[in-house]
Amino acid sequence: MMQQYREIKKQYPDAILMYRLGDFYEMFFDDALLASRELDLVLTGRDCGQEQRAPMCGVPFHSVDSYIARLVAKGYKIAICEQVEDPALAKGLVKREVIRVITPGTVFESQMLDEGRNNYLCCVLLEPDCAGLCFADVSTGLAEVAVLQPPDLPGKIINELAKFVPSEILLSPGAAAEKRLRDYLAQIGLTTAETLAEEAFDPAACEAELMRHFAQAGMGADARRQMGLDEEPAAKRALGAALGYLRQLQREGQCSIRQVECYGESQFMRLNASSRRNLELCETMRGREKRGSLLWVLDKTRTAMGKRLLRAWLERPLTHLPRITRRQSAVEELVQVSELRLDVLELLSEMHDLERLMARVVYQSANAREIQAVSASLALLPGLKAALAPARSELLTRLRGEIDPLDDMCRLIDATLTENPSATIREGGMIREGYCAELDELRALEKDGKGGLVGIQNKEQDATGIKKLKVGFNRVFGYYIEVSNAYKELVPEHYIRKQTLANCERYITPERKELEARVLGAGERIVKLEIEIFTQLREELAGQYRRVRRSAGAAAELDVLCSLAEVAAARNYCRPEVNDGDEIEIIEGRHPVIELMLDGAPFVSNNTALNRKDCRCAVITGPNMAGKSTYMRQVALITLMAQVGSFVPAERATIGMADAIFTRVGASDDLASGQSTFMVEMKEVAQILKDATPKSLLIFDEIGRGTSTFDGMSIARAVLEHAADPRRLGAKTLFATHYHELTELEGGIAGVRNFAVAVKRRGDDITFLRRIVRGAADGSYGVEVAKLAGVPETVIRRARAILRELEEQERAKLRATGQAALYDMEIAVESAAETLSLSESETTLQSLQLADFVSSLQSVELDTLTPLEALTKLYDIVKQAKAFG
Ligand code: ATP
Repeated sequence: MMQQYREIKKQYPDAILMYRLGDFYEMFFDDALLASRELDLVLTGRDCGQEQRAPMCGVPFHSVDSYIARLVAKGYKIAICEQVEDPALAKGLVKREVIRVITPGTVFESQMLDEGRNNYLCCVLLEPDCAGLCFADVSTGLAEVAVLQPPDLPGKIINELAKFVPSEILLSPGAAAEKRLRDYLAQIGLTTAETLAEEAFDPAACEAELMRHFAQAGMGADARRQMGLDEEPAAKRALGAALGYLRQLQREGQCSIRQVECYGESQFMRLNASSRRNLELCETMRGREKRGSLLWVLDKTRTAMGKRLLRAWLERPLTHLPRITRRQSAVEELVQVSELRLDVLELLSEMHDLERLMARVVYQSANAREIQAVSASLALLPGLKAALAPARSELLTRLRGEIDPLDDMCRLIDATLTENPSATIREGGMIREGYCAELDELRALEKDGKGGLVGIQNKEQDATGIKKLKVGFNRVFGYYIEVSNAYKELVPEHYIRKQTLANCERYITPERKELEARVLGAGERIVKLEIEIFTQLREELAGQYRRVRRSAGAAAELDVLCSLAEVAAARNYCRPEVNDGDEIEIIEGRHPVIELMLDGAPFVSNNTALNRKDCRCAVITGPNMAGKSTYMRQVALITLMAQVGSFVPAERATIGMADAIFTRVGASDDLASGQSTFMVEMKEVAQILKDATPKSLLIFDEIGRGTSTFDGMSIARAVLEHAADPRRLGAKTLFATHYHELTELEGGIAGVRNFAVAVKRRGDDITFLRRIVRGAADGSYGVEVAKLAGVPETVIRRARAILRELEEQERAKLRATGQAALYDMEIAVESAAETLSLSESETTLQSLQLADFVSSLQSVELDTLTPLEALTKLYDIVKQAKAFG
């Protein structure tokens, strides 16, 4: 046996081999050491013909799923090795084979999965000129594929990974060689990345794999064409490699993938990994919990399918206006016609997870209870279709059309299965009476087995006239007829004598022998027949996969639309006007999550008006805790929700679609990848400035804080200038900062406007008003906030003293150093401006521009200039000087 074990293990070196031994799955050697550690199992040993006993541990077969789930969740691969012949019939060692390898991305058992999220296996093909991606969820049967174009393929791949959050990843050799990709995988803890050989991506091999798959899945050329795969060779190769991998994991080679969707890069709003994290779309940044995320607010779905789809919608806001409008109109109808919403919701609350159940049907691993659950869910479809009859909006009408009542399948399942079938197939009791005459007969025979024999007894008594004839049973020759010696003469000829006792003889008859065989075999035959009928039913249902999947998809979408409508109605959201323009106007907007977290305290709503004309970039100042971050995220979330098709927490909103939202928020150390807070921040800033376009929405919350004040301020200012200036990026930008110096840009760069979060000051105390007002804040109030936070009074007093001292020193230093001239010049300009009655901000701005001008003059190195360069320089200088008027 140990030899057999070693042979099998050799083929699965990277998996934990669970080796079936009677009622247990055993693990040996290193697998045993690892599993005993990870699963808290008792480690024992077994003789294996060597000096040292083999370390061993095991789990009972009936609870193996929970152990597998724990190991898979930790990223391990599990190879399940079964006895593939009946031990009772086996000669010598029972034959064993690995029937399936379970990996984190290929689980289809719902009890091992989170019902609220898809479980993706991702396959990445990276070539110099393009990338092909495939995200396959075998638990729901859907694969999504895409082709990415340069530039920055690794960056784009990373963004897709952040969108789908796969639990397992397969890389082409090119992708595996890409350091940025590997760093990202390490950062998100996806350590199970496997590099597939180049041959796995060979176009011809992939084509063959696809053909084989589609043929097995019963999908014709039409279905294939619809998927649009033929135009996307790179996507086809990624899909082919993924399917090849999936096939190898199953002995039977089944695969549930029946639907493939190609998506384009430009179909969705771009959101990079850190922006997704910062916006807390589906989980919070800190605890990675759903509570506190946008999903938490919007999720009123009733089905697991809806839950998953809502998550996918939030992760993929749209950039296609008609699609957004269609969703919005459906949500609007469901908000306005509440009976329609309630009817649909009531039906959906009864619906099981058809997508995952159907994947189990395809894998031939669904039991009768699960098929009964499919049937119960299908039974809701006609009602759902009827409930939608009054719907008028385009999307709801379309979904109604997509619902197939599937009553044929429903009837078939109901006619075949009992109402409460057993959970394990071998227990029997699955097939309904009246479905199969042979089965009914066998059951009657089993039940009345004894009765049948009593019947024979009576019959034989009557036929022979032997009143004392008895039917009995023994293990040697089964059922027999016993006749006492007194009646020996009456025994008919066809009785075959088997045994002679003191006062009687025992006989058998061919007819009774046959009955006996049937009674004894009935139980066994019943189980066999039930499995046969059940398997047939399951296969029949698997054949209807696409029909069921389509209806399930429609139900999921209805669920999401109803959920958005429920929240919109309950929380007083409005339908935003989404358009192709450049304006974001929000009247009385609220933060969807914070307003719910405030626990009864009122949330102060605020307006926003960003446009390309006079306010493209809002510089927001105000004390800590005043509400700057809340406000900026609120604008980002409202924009995102609008592009998902949802209503938004505002009185009124007009949203010019953003092609991307970028956020740089807060400080996050990335110690795992050995990067400092400041480095992470600067990398994010770099990426944003590289990827953003004038159609993007940018949120910067406090950049440049992890370094010296001047360094930080210079970077912050340069970034702000770059983002805001229409001659460079000119994107809609919200920029919160404690560098009050930056408020001087208003008036200097077109479209920059200052805003502050209002506070009320009384003596040394401040109250937050949470109102965003025009203008710059008059201070940082850091010490006041520290006081509010409960920092001891002595420390606060000392901080104030230090602050005063520092401010004085700063002024003195400025006077004393070589900057004195500049300082004097600034004063001079200020007083001149006073005479000219310029506004204060313009004054300071002019003085800064003048300072810039002077320092640019100082840096001119005359000795190195050619005559032509000198002339050009002179021309520039005069031009700049003229600009001062
Ligand atoms: P810091 O500069 O320290 O990051 P901040 O100005 O960004 O502070 P926020 O984190 O946005 O402040 O807000 C702090 C808290 O104030 C929030 O957690 C919330 O409880 C409350 N708050 C913010 N905005 C509002 C609002 N509009 N209405 C009611 N409460 C609010």
